[in-house]
Amino acid sequence: PGLMQHDHPLTIAGLVRRMATVTARSEVVDFRADGRTTRRSFAGVADRAARLGAHLGALGVREGDRVATLAWNSAQHLEAYLGIPAIGAVLHTVNLRLTPEHLTYVLNHGGARVLLVDRTLLGLLEAVADDLTELEHLVLLGEGPEPGAALERFRSEDLDAALADVAPLAAWPEVDDRAAAALCYTSGTTGNPKGVLYSHRSSVLHALAAGMVDTLAVGRGDRVLPIVPMFHANAWGLPYACALTGASLVFVGRDMSAATIAAAIAAERVTIAAGVPTIWMDLLRYAEQHEVDVSSLRCAPCGGAAVPRALMEGFERRLGAEIVQAWGMTETSPLGAVARVPEDVPEEERWARRLAQGTIAPLVEARLVDDAGVEQPWDGTSEGELQVRGPWIAAGYYRDPDASEEAIDDGWLRTGDVATIDDRGTLRLTDRAKDIIKSGGEWISSVALEGELLAHPEVLEAAVIAHPDERWTERPLACVVLAPRATAGPAELRAFLAERVARWWVPERFAFIEEVPKTSVGKFDKKVLRARLAEGALA
Ligand code: ADP
Repeated sequence: PGLMQHDHPLTIAGLVRRMATVTARSEVVDFRADGRTTRRSFAGVADRAARLGAHLGALGVREGDRVATLAWNSAQHLEAYLGIPAIGAVLHTVNLRLTPEHLTYVLNHGGARVLLVDRTLLGLLEAVADDLTELEHLVLLGEGPEPGAALERFRSEDLDAALADVAPLAAWPEVDDRAAAALCYTSGTTGNPKGVLYSHRSSVLHALAAGMVDTLAVGRGDRVLPIVPMFHANAWGLPYACALTGASLVFVGRDMSAATIAAAIAAERVTIAAGVPTIWMDLLRYAEQHEVDVSSLRCAPCGGAAVPRALMEGFERRLGAEIVQAWGMTETSPLGAVARVPEDVPEEERWARRLAQGTIAPLVEARLVDDAGVEQPWDGTSEGELQVRGPWIAAGYYRDPDASEEAIDDGWLRTGDVATIDDRGTLRLTDRAKDIIKSGGEWISSVALEGELLAHPEVLEAAVIAHPDERWTERPLACVVLAPRATAGPAELRAFLAERVARWWVPERFAFIEEVPKTSVGKFDKKVLRARLAEGALA
C-alpha cells in the first residue's frame, strides 16, 4: 500500500472547519432589492452551522437520520447544508414547486422527522399536512406568517431563536466519508420523483471538480450567485464548491425576477451566476428595456436544458458576458460535462464547441450504447444512449430497487439522453430518448428544431413534440409562443426552417400557444404538451 493518509475522510465537516479559519472572511450575502440586504462572514456561518448541529442533536437527530429543508436560497439554507451533514445526518432538500402529491411522496419517502421550512412556504405544507406520516418538528426560517391550525400537531420553533439558545458544537463527530450526506429527488420530468443519495466523499470531490479551470473555475476571489435553487441538484454543487474554495456566495431568495437578478449582480459584483436557460432568456429580454450592468460577470454556467445559440449570442452582444453551457443531471451531482473552450480555438469551431453540451468532466467516464446494446464509436456522428460512471455519479436510488435496477447497466448510469461524442470527448445531446421524434425510421431532434425556431426574431419560446402520423409514425409538431404583435405564421416559420434544417425535418404542424408549460425546475414540460395533444387541446 501507498504510505499516505488514505483514511483521511473527505467530509462536509472538513469544509466547515475551513470556513471557520482559512476562509473566515469570505461572505454570504442575502441580497434584497429593497435595500434590506444582510451579510454574514464564513466564520459566522460556520458558527451558526455548529449551533444548528448541536441543536439537532438535542432534538434527537442521529447519524443517518434525514433532516429536510423546504426553503429558498439563503444564508440560513446554507447553514443547513453545512450543519446537517457535518453531524452525520442527511440533508434532504425538498423541491418547493412539487405538486401536493409529489411533495407528500418525497417527505414521507425521505422520512425526515425534522423540517427546516421558510415561513413563506408554510402554505404548501398546510395543504398536505394530514398526509405527512413521518414529520414531527418544524424549524421556521425567514420572515412571514406563523404556522396555521393545519400544522398544530407539529412542534415548531424559530431557527434564530433556537441557535441563540445553544452553544456551538466544540468539534464535529467523525463521519465515514462514504456515509450519506444529502438526498435530492429528481424533479420528475419522467414519472415519480426518485431519491439520489450523495455521500460526503462524492460531494467533496464534486466541489473540487467545480473549482477546476476547465469546468466552472470557482475560486477564492469569486462571488457566486446560484440562481439555480438549492433544492435542485444542490444548486449544482455551488454552495459546497464555495465552502471548499472560499468564494463568497450571494443569494436572492424567492425573488428571482430579472430585475432583482440584474440588481444583485451589479450591486454585489457577482463573477459567476448559474441558472437554467429560462432565467437568462428573461434577463436578456429585461435588458432590452432597462439599463443593466453585468460587467462583473466572468461566467454564467447554464444547463439543465439545451442552451440556444440565440441566447448565447444575445447575452454576449448585449450584456458582454459569456454563457458557459454544462450538462448534468441530479444523478450526476450534477457536473458531467462543461463546454469551456480553450482560447486558441478558431472562432467558428469555438461556437460549434460552445453549443455542444461540453467536454466530459475529469474523473467522469462516458460511453454511448445503441438500442441493441452495442457500444458506439466517438466519431461525432454515431448516436447512442449516454451512459456515465465516476465518483459523483449515482449507483442507484434511495429505497427504490426497481428504479435502481433500471438505471444501472453493468456499473454505468443510464442517462436517458441520446448523444454523440467526438474524438476529443465533446458531448452533443441529440435529444432525450423519449422526446426524440421517429419519422419514417429516422430520428428528428426536437431540441435542434427548437433551437432553430428560437433564432426567428418573433419567436419567444418553442417546444417541439411528436405528433402521431399514419405514414411516418411520427412527425414534429412545433408549439410556438410568438412575441406580442408578431405576424409570423406557419408558412413563414416553415420557410425560415427550410433554410436551416433538412427539408424532411420541417414541421407541417404548428400550434401557437400562450406559454410553454414548465416543470418544477423551469424546464419545458413536454409531458403536459403531449397530454394536451392527446386530449385534442393542441391544433
Ligand atoms: P429531470 O430529469 O427531472 O429534469 P434533472 O434536472 O436531473 O432532472 O435533468 C437532467 C436532464 O436535463 C438531463 O438528462 C438532460 O436531458 C437535461 N439536460 C441537462 N443539461 C442539459 C444541456 N446542457 N443540454 C440539454 N439538455 C440538458
